[in-house]
Amino acid sequence: MKTYKLMKEDFPQFLSLLQEKGNLYGPVKSKNHYSFEKIDDLSKLTFNYTRTLMGLKKFVTPPRYKVKHFDKSGSEDIIPENETNIVIGAHPCDIHAMKILDKLFLGQIKDPYYKKRRENLVIVGHSCMPDENCLCTSTGTDMVSDGFDLFLTELQDFYLVWVGSSKGLFIIMSSEDLFSEKIDMCDIAEYTTWQENRQNSFKTTIPFHLMPDIIHLIYEKDELWNQFGEKCLSCGTCSLVCPTCNCFNVEDKILINADEVVRERMLDSCTLPYYSVVAGDHDFRPDRTKRLKLYYTHKLKEYIGKWGQPACVGCGRCVTYCPVGINVKTVSNAFYEAIQCVREVKKI
Ligand code: SF4
Ligand code: SF4
Repeated sequence: MKTYKLMKEDFPQFLSLLQEKGNLYGPVKSKNHYSFEKIDDLSKLTFNYTRTLMGLKKFVTPPRYKVKHFDKSGSEDIIPENETNIVIGAHPCDIHAMKILDKLFLGQIKDPYYKKRRENLVIVGHSCMPDENCLCTSTGTDMVSDGFDLFLTELQDFYLVWVGSSKGLFIIMSSEDLFSEKIDMCDIAEYTTWQENRQNSFKTTIPFHLMPDIIHLIYEKDELWNQFGEKCLSCGTCSLVCPTCNCFNVEDKILINADEVVRERMLDSCTLPYYSVVAGDHDFRPDRTKRLKLYYTHKLKEYIGKWGQPACVGCGRCVTYCPVGINVKTVSNAFYEAIQCVREVKKI
């Protein structure tokens, strides 16, 4: 991977360069949260943030969008236009989440709407420091070596710029005078010191590696699941903010002239009522405990079985935003503590 040095005084010029190349999006503070927004005024950008409300998924699977148009003459897919969207400021966990979405939507069956949006997207990652809700060391997503076009590690007077794709290299090549390949030993020492400091800043670890077995073994123990099911508000916030949650529903809307129909696709959540209702009005998961079981079994057990990693990148959004404190941390810890109890009883 090629690596360059970008001096901080040249950073505004780099941002202007990105603006010339496409629609620039980046982290912006609004009231009590951060979100990736379109940037017209560069002074609104802030990189001193821990997590945005939603991750990168809003660029590839927007909360609601039109997918098909029907009229008397037939039907037509509504594929997004060709346009370059550049997102700057994505953290390693969010880039890992995008890699998970890529596997799902660009695997054997390619989703044409996702594919076009993904092709349109340029990701410029940015280094971060964790807070107490960050769990990415436990999911192995605290560092990233691919899945981005450029990645900036912010050090005292300069950025190390890691090139992850030909699109990224093209950006560098188009303004070579901003970037230097001369990285000396002191620069490297500064980077490794920063890395050590960052690693030492993580406060939370979770035994995610044990979760597939634990969830398998306690699956029928409803008393463990009910403690969460009874509290859950079925609000769907956990899925909306989770950067790897990707379930969607489709809805056909008949336009007022009754001659046209537009099919829309919108994010859905397995924690919402009616998620598992099928034809004949049968509901496979009528209660909240059953729906949470699906959510956590999928994230922390089944996905690991299929892909070798959890469908959780440790971003801490569910920890931050669930209004009643149900999240990967509280659920995993509760299950882990429950099996510690069983061991102690056996020893006696
Ligand atoms: S777990 Fe929390 S965020 Fe998710 S649906 Fe239940 S109350 Fe809402
Ligand atoms: S489950 Fe929670 S911590 Fe894991 S990726 Fe989703 S929102 Fe982030």
